[in-house]
Amino acid sequence: MSKRAFNFNPGPAVLPLPALERARDEFMDFAGTGMSVLETSHRSKDYEAVHNEAKALIAELLGLTPDYHVVFVGGGASLQFAMVPMNLLGAGKSADYVITGSWSKLAIKEAKILGAPKVAATSEPDGFTYIPTKLTLDPNATYVHITTNNTIYGTQYHAFPDTGSVPIVADMSSDIMWRPIDVKPFGLIYAGAQKNMGPAGVTVVIIRDDLLKKCKEGLPTMLSYATHVEKESLYNTCPVFPIYMVRNVLAWVKEQGGLAAMEKHNRKKGDLLYGALDADPDFFRGPVRKDSRSFMNVVFRLPNEDLEAAFISEAKKLGMVGLKGHRSVGGIRASMYNALPFEAVQTLVNFMQDFRKRH
Ligand SMILES: *Cc1c(COP(=O)(O)O)cnc(C)c1O
Repeated sequence: MSKRAFNFNPGPAVLPLPALERARDEFMDFAGTGMSVLETSHRSKDYEAVHNEAKALIAELLGLTPDYHVVFVGGGASLQFAMVPMNLLGAGKSADYVITGSWSKLAIKEAKILGAPKVAATSEPDGFTYIPTKLTLDPNATYVHITTNNTIYGTQYHAFPDTGSVPIVADMSSDIMWRPIDVKPFGLIYAGAQKNMGPAGVTVVIIRDDLLKKCKEGLPTMLSYATHVEKESLYNTCPVFPIYMVRNVLAWVKEQGGLAAMEKHNRKKGDLLYGALDADPDFFRGPVRKDSRSFMNVVFRLPNEDLEAAFISEAKKLGMVGLKGHRSVGGIRASMYNALPFEAVQTLVNFMQDFRKRH
């Protein structure tokens, strides 16, 4: 087999090799059907088994109680920015948004089209370098929206806010499944698959029954959560192949020991890389406050942009790809999702130390 890159891409991102190999092995003949899963009806028995297994793995790995519904929706996490307020906001209702980066801003932008959301806190004046903990919350809000991991700015919640009886709605696109969580405070969780669960093309939405019951009626059919729950994500042709890949990836996560094993693996990688930044903070400049550091996306700057460009191109020659920071912020970003092997981070840190000696 050809050599695999050390893939630090922010998304679409690295997938576990066994999940890809399984897809390869089953590609031309899925479940003995003589067809690829790409050629199979979304209403066939063979596909149905995959659909249900993917759903069951999500519920099992996250420890969901039976009052949570898991659905697969197209349109990316970006569609959820609109579907959440479309279903839950409106006349006489309010929602609180915690603004921690570009994705939160896009989420509240959609909510403003559909209602009157409030900003509970924002770290924008400080360049989104931390997760705010002092929130101004409306006890009558329908939900509090947070972005659990800020893919561009490299911040992450390590404790979730206490919102009392108001459910949290969370965009977990870039850190779902990175560690075990207590789902109780969450009324709705959504995540595009292409960071930590699979390829682009499907978004996982988890909605608790009490919140589902509060959803507006009379919405266009495809934009109503009730449709997707009632029809078990099969109202129309679902994204069969992305869901199949999510199944492969999550079967791998389970085999590794579930989310507890993922957390151990992710902390080991994060500790190694942040340790390297902290050992030489004048050269490797991490802007993020220590208590808000992301274990999924590690961002840092070098003393100047020429050094950053040299760093990225030399790293590429050594097989490390995807290290360029988001175009809106520049610098370096190492994305280290569940599927990124420890060896990739070790290679990066060795390279960083070598690069430092030469500059
Ligand atoms: C990538 C990302 C998105 C956008 O996802 P799409 O599926 O491209 O719409 C939203 N939120 C977060 C936190 C992300 O990382």
